[in-house]
Amino acid sequence: MHEWALAEAVIKAASDIAEKEKLTNVTEVNVKIGELQQVEREILQFALQQLKPANFKKVKFKISQAKTQLKCRNCGDTWQLQKQKLEPTVREAIHFVPEAAHSYIKCPRCGSPDFEITQGRGIWLQNIKGTR
Ligand SMILES: [Zn+2]
Repeated sequence: MHEWALAEAVIKAASDIAEKEKLTNVTEVNVKIGELQQVEREILQFALQQLKPANFKKVKFKISQAKTQLKCRNCGDTWQLQKQKLEPTVREAIHFVPEAAHSYIKCPRCGSPDFEITQGRGIWLQNIKGTR
């Protein structure tokens, strides 16, 4: 049930911002989920609704997906996983085990398999909207 833990973290972060900006009525919370992050969106949405505080009464949680971005440690080039040509089975393997990416992917510029996943994992709060 890690969706609940993620929802809790999102609510906490959103509440902190609302407090700092003195928002009494938060209307929109934009959440990004990395392409490689395993999340049941419906459960997350439900958990967010259950955990929201009083000043989030009319809030809409908008959940969108962030593309996976990779960065080569050798030449510094960055590229998107989505734009790389991969077999569907490989794509699936990477989705379930992001660490597997290193066995299949090489930097499109220099061919180095030494890269980091700079975006595509985890969940984060993009922004919130509301009124004072
Ligand atoms: Zn490279």
